[in-house]
Amino acid sequence: MNYNISITKVEKSQVDDLDFNNIPLGTTFTDHMFICDYENGEWTNPRIEPLKPIPTHPAAMALHYGQAIFEGMKAYKDADGEPMLFRPAQNASRLNKSADRMGMPHVPEDLFVQGLKELVSLEHNWIPPQQGSALYLRPFMYADEPFIGMRAATHYKFIIMASPAGPFFSKRIKLWAEKQYIRAAHGGTGEAKAAGNYAAAIRPTELAKAKGYDQVLWLDAVEHKYIQEVGTMNIFFKINGEFITPELDGSVLHGITRASVIDMLRAMNYSVTERKITIDEIIEASKNGTLEEAFGTGTAVGIAYIQEIGLKGETIHVSDESPVGLEVNDTLNAIKTGQLEDRFGWMVKTR
Ligand code: PMP
Repeated sequence: MNYNISITKVEKSQVDDLDFNNIPLGTTFTDHMFICDYENGEWTNPRIEPLKPIPTHPAAMALHYGQAIFEGMKAYKDADGEPMLFRPAQNASRLNKSADRMGMPHVPEDLFVQGLKELVSLEHNWIPPQQGSALYLRPFMYADEPFIGMRAATHYKFIIMASPAGPFFSKRIKLWAEKQYIRAAHGGTGEAKAAGNYAAAIRPTELAKAKGYDQVLWLDAVEHKYIQEVGTMNIFFKINGEFITPELDGSVLHGITRASVIDMLRAMNYSVTERKITIDEIIEASKNGTLEEAFGTGTAVGIAYIQEIGLKGETIHVSDESPVGLEVNDTLNAIKTGQLEDRFGWMVKTR
């Protein structure tokens, strides 16, 4: 379906004020946003307008009961300078999966993708030209109905904002395997990209950073031994030539980079197994020399190599090199920027 999206443009773009060689992380936004309202059981008035603060009633239900979900994705320029999206339908479907869990309405995939395309083609000058840079896109939905009481809201806003992001250099990270706090339990909201999941992760992440680690390695809620994911990334281990990543058991976010990396590794003839994996298995593999490499995968950084995992009383040395991770990262970046043929059919034109 084709939606009639009205466009109100800014009088003067701010893009000329941006130093593309020095983009402050997360604080620069493009001129416009896509916005649309949910009322009487349907999405209405899809529009692109100048990005500005939105008046919010203090009783807006998202502020109290937390019906707030989001997505994270990026737009790139291909070899001809055309703005491209990476697997946007996957983000649409994950948003709707999150919506299901949080009692929120679906955003039709066509509306989600058309909103993205129109916003990105309007803002194409904001896509940074440097290799490894991209325009970060943040689609999100929240309950804006003013109501005190526990039920699903009947009014929501769906918005897409865009923020240029400078080149991310894949770096080595150190993880803290967390046994006191948990991210997700069976039956909980771990599979949803819900704002509350991130709120609950902030304090444990601060504590891990204070100990000298970069990110938290999340373990299962009951036995604190099964590995789930890391910070805002999924995780892969290479043990004895085989790649292993935790299975999607309801407590792990369905990472789109994760799914893409599985396809790429298999295309490189590696065996990839999705299964339960314990921290003890990693300790054992590290000790007996079969732990070859490990990395986190996510939209923000692509691939981050894991050098070390700390846990109470022990440090697991993972690896100082991550040759396969590096190769996958380079290939993925080359596909996203049109330097390599899009053999998986992942890239989508915006105009
Ligand atoms: N896990 C969590 C908790 C995340 O927030 C993210 C980032 N969306 C990921 C994994 C990686 O997902 P993706 O590859 O789709 O960015």
